[in-house]
Amino acid sequence: MQISVQKTSQLKPKPDQGKLGFGTNFTDHMFNMDYNPDQGWHNPRIEPYAPLSLDPATMVLHYGQGIFEGMKAYRTEQDNLQLFRPMENFRRMNYSAQKLCMPQIDEAFALKALKQLLAVEKDWVPQEPGTSLYIRPTMIATDPFLGVKASQTYRFFIILSPVGAYYAEGFNPIKIMVTRDHVRAVRGGVGDTKTLGNYAASLLAGEKAHTAGYTQVLWLDGVEQQYVEEVGAMNIFFVIDNEVITPALSGSILPGITRKSVLQLAEHWGIKAIERKIKIDEIVQAHQSGQLTEIFGAGTAAVISPVGELKYEDKILKIGEGKVGPVSQKLFDAIINIQYGRSEDTLNWIEQVHG
Ligand SMILES: *Cc1c(COP(=O)(O)O)cnc(C)c1O
Repeated sequence: MQISVQKTSQLKPKPDQGKLGFGTNFTDHMFNMDYNPDQGWHNPRIEPYAPLSLDPATMVLHYGQGIFEGMKAYRTEQDNLQLFRPMENFRRMNYSAQKLCMPQIDEAFALKALKQLLAVEKDWVPQEPGTSLYIRPTMIATDPFLGVKASQTYRFFIILSPVGAYYAEGFNPIKIMVTRDHVRAVRGGVGDTKTLGNYAASLLAGEKAHTAGYTQVLWLDGVEQQYVEEVGAMNIFFVIDNEVITPALSGSILPGITRKSVLQLAEHWGIKAIERKIKIDEIVQAHQSGQLTEIFGAGTAAVISPVGELKYEDKILKIGEGKVGPVSQKLFDAIINIQYGRSEDTLNWIEQVHG
């Protein structure tokens, strides 16, 4: 399929790189393509960034049949643009699509379209330390129809947003809180996909945590409410007795690409890294016995997010005296050095973008 390109005649002013924040500025162009059962995916195009015009009956607006991905493009010190494991994102998007009765995309074509869009928008990739261009591939159901069934037609689009350094004032340990009033996902559900409703369903618990002075919710499993699942929109890791432990993918946990990278790096370094079920009570006990030395979240936005405090019922666990632990620091440095091209890509995680 040939991607058509229509450029805008009015470029937006670029935002101040020191004040980017997250997800508020969008670039000049976007990628769009459409799906119907007769033509499959068709009309791939790069065109000016613009609002979508949707019939009020459009199915995604009513039943949430929509999925997305999140990844970043990085500018290296040599002024090259690069992506971190992008095929993993498109593969996961197809996994989400299949679970939501949505059509598959051609993963290699999606990467080609993304690279072409990035070549058009290369000046939007910021260069200040820690900044990047956030990439949001999205697929939505577009039939104007109010019956509950899978849509026949879909739109796939990619938008881009320059984002600031997550740790502009240094690596700050976050405070997290276990909730028992809410669950994020259940066995057999869609917790392992990046689908719209999962995020809407997490808002109330998130707001309650904020009110209580915590940054994120630590979710327990939806059935027994005993096993740790993940934190906010990150996977969770514990360092207990010098072993790195993360909950095994249970079907209700999002299979993070940062999570996978952490496990692969730990293995590469000869650190014992284990995926298994882990009870919240085990965490409390490991803290009491002094064996729990670090907790950290892992996700594209922050890469590694050290946890300095964990609240569970009436217990408050302080971890690492407000400092960043050595495993968290080593993982953070290793991953960002690969992403920004400062260390050799020995694990083959980098995809170059040629402007
Ligand atoms: C996206 C996401 C993650 C992290 O995945 P990455 O691929 O590492 O960015 C973890 N949990 C949830 C719920 C997510 O949406």
